[in-house]
Amino acid sequence: MATINSVLGPLDTAELGFTLMHEHVMCGFAGVLPNFPELLGENMMEVVVDDLKKAKTGGIDTIVDATTIDLGRDINVIAEASHRSGVNIIACSGWWMDVPVFFAGISPDQLADLFTREIEQGIAGTNIKAGILKSASDLTGVTPEQEVVLRGVARAHLKTRVPIMLHSYSPGQVGRQQLDILKEEGVDLRRVKMDHSNDTTDVEYLTWLLEQGCYLGMDRYPGRNVSPLARTKTMKALIDAGYTDRLCPSHDRLVLRVMADNPMITEEERLRMNPHGFLYMKEVVFQQLREMGVSEETLNRLCVVGPRNFFEGD
Ligand SMILES: [Zn+2]
Repeated sequence: MATINSVLGPLDTAELGFTLMHEHVMCGFAGVLPNFPELLGENMMEVVVDDLKKAKTGGIDTIVDATTIDLGRDINVIAEASHRSGVNIIACSGWWMDVPVFFAGISPDQLADLFTREIEQGIAGTNIKAGILKSASDLTGVTPEQEVVLRGVARAHLKTRVPIMLHSYSPGQVGRQQLDILKEEGVDLRRVKMDHSNDTTDVEYLTWLLEQGCYLGMDRYPGRNVSPLARTKTMKALIDAGYTDRLCPSHDRLVLRVMADNPMITEEERLRMNPHGFLYMKEVVFQQLREMGVSEETLNRLCVVGPRNFFEGD
C-alpha cells in the first residue's frame, strides 16, 4: 500500500481499482484552452464529464492523464472532470516532444526542480499535484534536447519517488536508448513504464524490456499500423510468458482534441474504429483475450495489479 497524488488529493493505491494507465482528457498544445478554446469543440466540459461518467459506470475507476504542458495540460479541467465523474485521475509532470527552441542551455537540474515543484507543491499555482513523470522520444531516437528532459525527469523521480512513463518508438527499439540514460542517472528500472509497447509485435524486444525491470504500457487501442488483434496477440504472448502483473493495458485515447478542418482521421472514422470509448479494453480486448483462452482470473488482474504494483514500486 502507498499513497499517491491524484488530482483530488492523496489516493491510497488500494483505491486505484481498474486503472487505464495512458489516456488524455484533453490534448492539444501548450496554452490551447485559455487562448483558443473553440478549437476543442463546443460544450467541452460536458463532453468530458459525460464520457468519463460512462467509463465510471462501465467499471473504470482510475485513469492516468498523460498530458504534459506541451500537450496543453489544463489541471483545472482535469480536476473538475475527476470531481464530476467520480473517476480518479492521476496527472503528469515532465515533457512530451515539443521541446521549445528557448530550452537551449536549460539543464536537467533546472527541469528537475520545475517537475519536482509540480509533484510536491502543485501545478500552475494550484495545490493539485502530479503523480507521475513523463518523457518522450520517437522515430529519431533520443535527441539531445530530449536527453536533457529525460535526465531532468530522472532526477525529479530520484527526489520524489514518483514513477516514470516513457513515450517510446517501439518498432525502432528506442527504449534501449532511454533505459541506458535512466540507468546512468541511477534510476531503478522497476519504477519505469515503457509506453506504446504494443506498437511492435516483437515479443523478444518486449521481453528484454521486461527483463530490465520495466513495466510495459500496452496502451494503444485500437491504434494505427498494427491491428488491434495483433496487439492483443502480443499481449497474450506476454501473459503466457508470465508477465501479466507487469503489463499496463490502455488506449491512449483523447476525449477532447483539436477539431481540425482536415483531420488525419475524421470523427466518424474514429467512432467507427472505437464506439466503446474507455470501455474498449473491457468490451473488445478482454473478449479477444477470452477467446484466446485467457482465464477470468488473469483478466481480473489486468489493469488492476500491474498499475498498483507500478505505483507501489514493487
Ligand atoms: Zn498519449
